[in-house]
Amino acid sequence: MRRTTPPRPIDVTAVFPQLAPLARPAIRLHPRPGSPTPLDSSVGGPLLWPADEPWPYCDEVHEWHESELDEWREGPNAMLSVVQLYVRDVPLLRPPGQADLLQVLWCPFEHEPDYKPPTKLFWRCAADVTDVLAVPPVTSAVEYDEYVPQPCVLAPEEIVEYPNFLELKKEVQHQLKSWNSWQEAGSGVDSSHAAQPAAFYKDELSLAPGWKVGGWTPWGLTDPVVRNCAACGAEMAPLLTISSKEWHSSYRSWVPCEDREIAAVVNSGVVNSPGVQISGGNHLQLYVCTESPEHPHTDLIQ
Ligand SMILES: [Zn+2]
Ligand SMILES: [Zn+2]
Repeated sequence: MRRTTPPRPIDVTAVFPQLAPLARPAIRLHPRPGSPTPLDSSVGGPLLWPADEPWPYCDEVHEWHESELDEWREGPNAMLSVVQLYVRDVPLLRPPGQADLLQVLWCPFEHEPDYKPPTKLFWRCAADVTDVLAVPPVTSAVEYDEYVPQPCVLAPEEIVEYPNFLELKKEVQHQLKSWNSWQEAGSGVDSSHAAQPAAFYKDELSLAPGWKVGGWTPWGLTDPVVRNCAACGAEMAPLLTISSKEWHSSYRSWVPCEDREIAAVVNSGVVNSPGVQISGGNHLQLYVCTESPEHPHTDLIQ
């Protein structure tokens, strides 16, 4: 399986050279329905989990109904597989030591105080896992089905992103909003963008929609906030973006070439193979320390 993002309508750095140093690689994961194995990179697929290693549980308060026993129970909740990424598929990952595999799990609950599913990250060496756990524990409590990812295979594809509009200096924001500055550069941009050239930047030239590794932050729910590592103070960088949709009618130019025919008939405008919805259509972004991937990660909803 392969997915190819079409070239951007224009090279934004030819119009605004000051953006060039802000180019940042990202890998779009392009999750699509499938039957991944523990040996595959996946969303919502089985993990290459050592049989002799305890499965992670969420220790917050949960209650669930055991239908067969017709009784309520409470206790810790077995976490769910969200993403498994092999470095061979996603070379942008910077694992610690000899690790070549990243596994992300979460509890399918919006826990207080931030009302988001708590996540756990594991880096490991795939070759060390000789005895794979065949059946993980059942996740008894699910607050929302939209936090149970449907199994998907991936078609990782590297692209280039530029910062979210809100993260740019005010001077650059003004230039992006001014149709004159686009015309002065002789960009040849379609005049249909004259009324809202900044929207053209936001929708088609800066951040790609969908699940991805690396890249920039989709600010909008809040203003940008610098994120620093709790262990060493270094700046943190986006590791993984968990998205509520793969594309939307506003982002048609990001639809992969291989999906153009499907996109043409999906008039609701949304494709979302994993079925995940983050707090009503947002993104959950995980961050890692730029100095050490083993320092505690953080997450953020935008
Ligand atoms: Zn929980
Ligand atoms: Zn750190």
